[in-house]
Amino acid sequence: MDSIYTCPSCGKCYTRRHTPESYIGNNCFECSFWLGKTDYPDYIKEHQVIINGEHFMLGETEGPFRGFGGRRFKIQFFDGRIIETTNLWGQGPIPELFRHMLPDNAVFLPVDENQRLEVPMFDFDWFDDPVYPWMIIGPLSEELPDEERERRQLEDDIDQDDDE
Ligand SMILES: [Zn+2]
Repeated sequence: MDSIYTCPSCGKCYTRRHTPESYIGNNCFECSFWLGKTDYPDYIKEHQVIINGEHFMLGETEGPFRGFGGRRFKIQFFDGRIIETTNLWGQGPIPELFRHMLPDNAVFLPVDENQRLEVPMFDFDWFDDPVYPWMIIGPLSEELPDEERERRQLEDDIDQDDDE
């Protein structure tokens, strides 16, 4: 029997379907996902882009997978930094509950495709960072991680064998 938790942020009752590290305290998966983003260390914070209440992360320029199919974006942060990237990952709209904790920090600027990059591409190397996979997985994805899905499949198979 799965334990039932009550999320202290949104009040929802839920059972845990993701790995234990995916949860902060008793918060549900989605609230944990957003709470995690309110408390990034500085070196991750500088990859965080929040525009019109939507959350994005800057990915590594040379990464094999590109957010938005490698589309080019130009971004001006409120602190004055202007960057361009072809690896922006969107995590979706920030729920109302967390908007005040994750205020906008930037705006999109128009990109002139015919023009060469005016500013250096944002680049960094963070593949050693254990937090990395956690950032690019969307909160609303109902998909379970592959290993977890396989594990459950295996359990189901065993259950079915028992029934025969
Ligand atoms: Zn919640």
